[in-house]
Amino acid sequence: MATELRFLTDAYQVEIRGTIKAINGNLVVLDRTVYYPGIGVTPRDCASLTRFDGNSFSIVRGVWIGSVAPELGHVLSDDGHGLAHGDSVVVRIDRARRHTLMRTHTALHAVSAAFPFRVVGGRVGLGEGSIDFLVDSTAMSTSLLQHQVQRLVEKHLPVESSWAAANEIDFDERSQPFSWPGRPGFYRTVQIGSLGRLTCDGLHVRNTREIGSVVIKGIVPVGDNIYRIPISLNERRAFPFLAHVNSLAPTAEL
Ligand SMILES: [Zn+2]
Repeated sequence: MATELRFLTDAYQVEIRGTIKAINGNLVVLDRTVYYPGIGVTPRDCASLTRFDGNSFSIVRGVWIGSVAPELGHVLSDDGHGLAHGDSVVVRIDRARRHTLMRTHTALHAVSAAFPFRVVGGRVGLGEGSIDFLVDSTAMSTSLLQHQVQRLVEKHLPVESSWAAANEIDFDERSQPFSWPGRPGFYRTVQIGSLGRLTCDGLHVRNTREIGSVVIKGIVPVGDNIYRIPISLNERRAFPFLAHVNSLAPTAEL
């Protein structure tokens, strides 16, 4: 039986109790998890696995096991964990990191919606990232793109993630289909408001209002008709109550 991947139905759930189905050294397979292992350009969660007595172990990465009904193995930081098959454990993720990655990822979709060229690459970081486009020619300026992206975000559009069979989707010519392990013929999709439905394997916020303020840092030619658009999230504007915290972090990119 496949591991139940709770992040596919609720990306906001931060912990879950599960049962160990298999264990091999520091590799632990559970019947369910909230741990997102990092797929495509979106990084994995920071997370821990807690034993019945409260002892916790870091989850350093995830491993897909099998292909038809895949299980998600959690690789722990060490194998001196004392865990056994059948044990009940709790997986807990770093809530703030997950939410910031969801906001950054969804912000890059907003950039893609405002900059109508084929996406050929991207990178999602913690409050910053970039997206690459194949561009024949464009008169778009950074300031105009900034305006258009922020206007889209401030429409407070719903963001819906779901599954679709290949024949249900009018594939956006700019998107790259992704085959999710264990779901042959089905794709994970995202739709922002009434914008085009795209295949996407990342995690998203429920509404663009959660993205907050996006800073477009440029439209940078990187060769071969590819333009890179780096962005960052302006945490001070999005969450004024954090302004004091941010001001204490001189290396933070605001
Ligand atoms: Zn996405």
